[in-house]
Amino acid sequence: MERTAVCAICGRNIARFTCMKCGASVCENCFTQEKQVCRRCLHVIEGAAKKQA
Ligand SMILES: [Zn+2]
Ligand SMILES: [Zn+2]
Repeated sequence: MERTAVCAICGRNIARFTCMKCGASVCENCFTQEKQVCRRCLHVIEGAAKKQA
């Protein structure tokens, strides 16, 4: 049995990264290396930042 991790967000690409916030395995397209979080969490982080500002 192959056990290749697939991206938790797009479900199409191989997950090579792990989100530091939610722990989801995501592909490079759905991962923001700058923040080390997935695309979903980036929205949360940026949304929170905007509220503060
Ligand atoms: Zn993806
Ligand atoms: Zn995440």
